[in-house]
Amino acid sequence: MNYEATLEFAHKMDREDALSRFRDEYHIPKVNGQPSIYFCGNSLGLQPKRTQEYLEHEMKQWREMGVEGHFEGDTPWYESHARSKPALSKILGAKEHEIVAMNNLTTNLHLMMVSFYKPEGKRTKIIMEGGAFPSDMYAVESQVKFHGLNPENHVIEVSPREGEYLIRHEDIIEQIEKHGDEIAMVLFPGIQYYTGQVFDMKSITEAGHKAGAKVGFDLAHAAGNIIMKLHDWDVDCATWCSYKYMNSGPGNVSGLYVHERYADDNELPRFAGWWGHDQDERFQMLKGFKPMHGADGWQLANQNVLALAAHQAALSLFEEAGIKNLREKSVKLTGYLEFMLNGLNDSVDEPIVEIITSSKPEERGCQLSLFVHKGGKELFKKLQEGGLIADWREPNVIRLAPTPMYNSFEDVYRLVTLMEKVFKQF
Ligand SMILES: *Cc1c(COP(=O)(O)O)cnc(C)c1O
Repeated sequence: MNYEATLEFAHKMDREDALSRFRDEYHIPKVNGQPSIYFCGNSLGLQPKRTQEYLEHEMKQWREMGVEGHFEGDTPWYESHARSKPALSKILGAKEHEIVAMNNLTTNLHLMMVSFYKPEGKRTKIIMEGGAFPSDMYAVESQVKFHGLNPENHVIEVSPREGEYLIRHEDIIEQIEKHGDEIAMVLFPGIQYYTGQVFDMKSITEAGHKAGAKVGFDLAHAAGNIIMKLHDWDVDCATWCSYKYMNSGPGNVSGLYVHERYADDNELPRFAGWWGHDQDERFQMLKGFKPMHGADGWQLANQNVLALAAHQAALSLFEEAGIKNLREKSVKLTGYLEFMLNGLNDSVDEPIVEIITSSKPEERGCQLSLFVHKGGKELFKKLQEGGLIADWREPNVIRLAPTPMYNSFEDVYRLVTLMEKVFKQF
C-alpha cells in the first residue's frame, strides 16, 4: 500500500472505503463538542444506533406478554441462546453447534477449564503466556489449586525474551515440546491484550495436541478483530467477550466454543445447570442431567434476554459488513496508523513513542501498542484533552485500536496531527 501523509489522502481512502457507511450506524462520543478520535474498541466498542430498537423490542414483549414471552411472540426467549449463532460462527470460524453465547468471559474460562484441564498422573501442568490478563492468571491459578496442586510448579509461563516485547513463536512451541507429557492444557490468548500480538493458533493447537494436551484460547481481543477458523484449526475450546470488538455493550455476554468431537461427550467433567439440559425435557423438571448437543449443553442458566438483544443488534452489523471485508479494511487502516506514526518519528532525533506491536499485518489485529519513552501519563492526558479516547496501560503503554467498523482514515490523520502538536511540548 502506498500511503500519503495528507488529509486529502485520508479523505480519498474514506471515499473508496466500501464500509465507510457503517460509521454512521454508531454513536461516536464527543470531546469538547467534537467527535472524539475513538480508538478504544479494544476495551469497549461503541454503541450501535440500532441497539436501542432491539432492546425496546424485548421490553415491549415483556411489557405486553409477561411470562408468555418465553414461548410466544416473534422472538421467544427460550430460544434466544440460538439467535447469535449464524453471526458468531462466521466471526469465530466455528460450526453453529460448537458455540453458544452465555455468561461472562471469566466464568466461561472456568467452565472450559473444568472440562478441559484434567490433571492426571504425570500430566498436570498448564502452559500459558507470561504477563497474561489478570483475570486469566487468577482463573488458572485457582483452577490449579482447586485440583490440590501448587501453581508455582504447575503453571508454565512463556514470556518475551530479555529486552523484547513480543513472545517468539518458536519459544512457545519449544516449551510445549519440552514439557510434553507433563502438560494437561495449553491456554493462550488469540491476541495478547497488552502488545496486540496475534498468536499462531493453528500451530499452537497442533503442537499441544502432539504433546497429548488439550488446547484452549481466550479470544477477548481476537473476536470480531481477526479472521479465525477454530473448527479447522482443531481447537478444543475457547471463550471471548462481546463488549470489545463486538460492540455489544459494557460487560455484555461472552460465549463458549467446544469442538464438535465433544458435542455428545458425556464423559467430560462439566458443571451442569438446567439450561444445558435437553431443551425438549427441560420443563419436565426431572432428575438426571441430559446435556444438549454441542456447546449448548454447557449452558447453566436462563439466558439474559435484554443483554442478548444488545448483542444481536451489534452482530447484525457484522452480518451486513462481513468479517472478511472488515479485516481487509482493518489491515489498511492500521497500516495507515503505523505509516503515520513512523513519519512522526522520522522527523525527530529521539522518538517519543515506539510501536511494540509487530509490523507484520498477520501478527497483529487492529491494535497498535505504543511504548511511551517521554512524558508518560502527562502526555497521554494531553492527547485525551485534544480529543483522543484510547487507553493507558501501566507502566507506559498507550493502546490504539482503530476499528474497521466505525473508524475512518481521517481519524488516523487527526490523531497523528494531534500527536505532532502534543509531542512538541515534551
Ligand atoms: C477483557 C479481558 C477479560 C475480561 O474478562 P471479563 O470476564 O469479561 O471481565 C479477560 N481476559 C482477557 C484476556 C481480556 O482481554
